[in-house]
Amino acid sequence: MATDSDMATDSPYLSEEIANLFPDDITAEFWERCKRHALAFQCCANCGTFRHPPVDVCYVCRSTDTEWREISGEGTLYSFTIVTHAVHPALLTRVPFNVALVEFPDAPGVRLITNVVDTSPEDLEIGMPVRVQWEDLSNGQTLPRFVRRT
Ligand SMILES: [Zn+2]
Repeated sequence: MATDSDMATDSPYLSEEIANLFPDDITAEFWERCKRHALAFQCCANCGTFRHPPVDVCYVCRSTDTEWREISGEGTLYSFTIVTHAVHPALLTRVPFNVALVEFPDAPGVRLITNVVDTSPEDLEIGMPVRVQWEDLSNGQTLPRFVRRT
C-alpha cells in the first residue's frame, strides 16, 4: 500500500538546474536506493556505526566491512537555516528557502542535509517531527526531501 512518503512531489523544491548529482563508487548505493524511494544509510558491519556521507573505512573500529540499512524515513529537524540570497540565477524565484539538517532515531549519528518542503520559514522549529518525501526529477535522479509529520 502506498503511503504519503512513497509519493513524489509535484515540482522540485529547488530548481532542477542545480540538482545534478555525481555519484561515485561510495555514494552510488545511497542514490540508487533513493531512486527506489528507500532511505538507507551505510553502516559498519563490524560495530554498527552509521555514517553519512558513506566512507570506505569505519572511523570507530577501522573495519572496511559495510552494509546498508533501510530506515523508516521518519526523523526530527536538528537544525536549519533560511536562505534569502540567491547565489545562482536558478534560485531567484526560490528564495527564501530552507536548508535543513534532519536526524533519525533509527540511524543514530546520521544528519542529512536536505530541505523541509511543506513548511514556511516562520513555522520551522528545531525538534519538529518530519518524514521523507521523495522528489523525482526529470533527469532520473531522486532527492530525499522532508515534510512535517504530525
Ligand atoms: Zn565500525
